[in-house]
Amino acid sequence: LKDSYDIVIVGSGGAGMAAAIQAKESGMNPVIFEKMPVAGGNTVKASAGMNASETKFQKEQGIEDSNDLFYEETLKGGGGTNDKELLRYFVDHSASAIDWLDSMGIRLNNLTTTGGMSVKRTHRPEDGSAVGEYLVDGLVRNVHEREIPLFVNADVTKINEKDGQVNGVKVTIQGEQPKDITAKAVVVATGGFGANMDMVEKYKPELKGYVSTNQAGSTGDGIKMIQELGGATVDLDQIQIHPTVQQDKAFLITEAVRGEGAILVSQEGNRFFNEMETRDKVSQAIIDLPEKSAYLIFDAGVRERVKAIDFYDEQGFVKTGDSIEALAKEIDVAPTTLKTTVEKWNKAVADKDDSEFGRTTAMDHDLSKGPFYAIKIAPGIHHTMGGVKINTNTQVLKEDGKTIPGLYAAGEVTGGLHGQNRIGGNAVADIIIFGRQAGEQSAAFAKE
Ligand code: ADP
Repeated sequence: LKDSYDIVIVGSGGAGMAAAIQAKESGMNPVIFEKMPVAGGNTVKASAGMNASETKFQKEQGIEDSNDLFYEETLKGGGGTNDKELLRYFVDHSASAIDWLDSMGIRLNNLTTTGGMSVKRTHRPEDGSAVGEYLVDGLVRNVHEREIPLFVNADVTKINEKDGQVNGVKVTIQGEQPKDITAKAVVVATGGFGANMDMVEKYKPELKGYVSTNQAGSTGDGIKMIQELGGATVDLDQIQIHPTVQQDKAFLITEAVRGEGAILVSQEGNRFFNEMETRDKVSQAIIDLPEKSAYLIFDAGVRERVKAIDFYDEQGFVKTGDSIEALAKEIDVAPTTLKTTVEKWNKAVADKDDSEFGRTTAMDHDLSKGPFYAIKIAPGIHHTMGGVKINTNTQVLKEDGKTIPGLYAAGEVTGGLHGQNRIGGNAVADIIIFGRQAGEQSAAFAKE
């Protein structure tokens, strides 16, 4: 540990590591401080993929898409409340972010759809595995290859400043005495506050009692430290619940299960909503059921396309039946009802017409290949969409719109991009696109 670095990066999720790699590529020497014993943050748990438009992988696979369409659908999904400048920057830099990752050996060339998106723009690893572990492994490898120092068990408790200019942080490493480290710029990439129930309940009291899918380090430290410096926040009450969370272990079941063809049914055995609607709407539909939970129903085909299901099975989340009726018995649903539901759905897939609930995506495959499976789910706290206010250069802003020189933030710690509802696959895109921008901008500032 040195007393001084060009740039201090707080947090080693996707945003922090992308910032570090880019800052290094821009000629600066950054350090990463991570308070938990391992790198990866919530990013390691990301499952759906990374949304991006006009990418080379889409083109190779004949998928027509445009940045404008990506913009429009994200804005619609966010209830029109998204920060439009951040959103424009985001969509316009999404394809180059996919290329940047590819140049580092992180290849996301397997395409699926998430709720609220009309085309396949969710980029996943080739083998259909969850994006988080693959991405974190790749980023850690690149951090090491570039000899960027990364300290774990390194808890940043304060951002230091002098005369309004940020000049380093206070960090406690391995529980020893706190130490002041100087730097020309600081990038805050501490993630959200979805594991801090006091904060969650303060900003959204109705979420009391919900399980949280967040890793223990997502406690909102960055937001508090930036508020102390006079930084502004946006949308702190916008906290996303994810519709499909296994409740006993608070484990998120990836949206790709629906994206690859699964349906949702109630305890009565009926579908009740368009499964590919946005997360806020699907969650609400589940909460409105008498039992406030539902089942994901799928077949062996979905299981082959979504590798994570093998892991869910090992965890004991998956019920199996050789036929739909056998599966129905396993989950205490009337067999004839479930059979009728699946038959109706398969007809909707064949006709490409879901007149009942208006689903239009993820209808490439019907549910006809046994064995059949069910996972019981209900909504859980997932992502804090609000956070500190930044501009497209990832500079942290004060209430009056002025910047705090030397202070940058990226990833879930920031707010505005997603508006009232984040689209699945947009968090991974957010952390790479804006993490990279934070690395570049902080490096340019540090060079001055
Ligand atoms: P993002 O997706 O925005 O990159 P993540 O949740 O993946 O966010 O990563 C944020 C990381 O920051 C986590 O690993 C978390 O443990 C770490 N972190 C949070 N607060 C601090 C802190 N005060 N000091 C150092 N690291 C922190």
